[in-house]
Amino acid sequence: MPELCQKLIATARRMAASGLNRGTAGNLSVRAEAPGETGTGNGFLITPSGMDYAVLQPEDIVFMRLDGTYTGQRKPSSEWRFHRDLYTARPEAGAVLHAHSPFATSLACLRRDIPPFHYMIARFGGDSLRCASYATFGTQALSDAALAAMAGRRACLLANHGMLVFGNDLDQALALGIELETLCEQYWRACQLGTPVLLDAAEMARVLEKFGGYGQQA
Ligand code: 13P
Ligand code: ZN
Repeated sequence: MPELCQKLIATARRMAASGLNRGTAGNLSVRAEAPGETGTGNGFLITPSGMDYAVLQPEDIVFMRLDGTYTGQRKPSSEWRFHRDLYTARPEAGAVLHAHSPFATSLACLRRDIPPFHYMIARFGGDSLRCASYATFGTQALSDAALAAMAGRRACLLANHGMLVFGNDLDQALALGIELETLCEQYWRACQLGTPVLLDAAEMARVLEKFGGYGQQA
């Protein structure tokens, strides 16, 4: 567990260094087991609420069970509900990342889905990235809206708030967060120049199939 806490802190710092977050916005978690309960995947480690990642120590990380109870000397992220609900509803989720990155957040303020303007949209599991309906930060209503927007997807925008993404592990969650922010920047820039030409459903279906066998498969 101490190694996983260190990995969580290191990834949270990379999240800040990569420009996804500034200050104490955003949060990060990784699926974990309570000591002595190996193999159950019954909880997760999550960043504490309102603390700068630069000063985080392993003892600041909170272990939370899927029933919402937690142990640790700090209060968990105020967004623990959408982390918990993703681990419960999506068995493939190994790490969850939430950020207020500039381009994703700007687009989320327009409350618009991102259409298939680029084939990499399929990297997130579908032919668009949905924007979840608005709800106050830290509420069950926000978690419910986010999970609905992520049906069949690994990411969504959160209206007037930011982005939410999950990966199989911390490295993949960070890589997908950076990819999502990159796509939002590209879409924003393309929209400055005109109306982006969208890929059609048949092409996106082809790309989705190709992604099934893309990269270095185990
Ligand atoms: P926490 O510091 O409580 O994780 O909150 C940051 C945030 O982004 C809330 O949406
Ligand atoms: Zn937030």
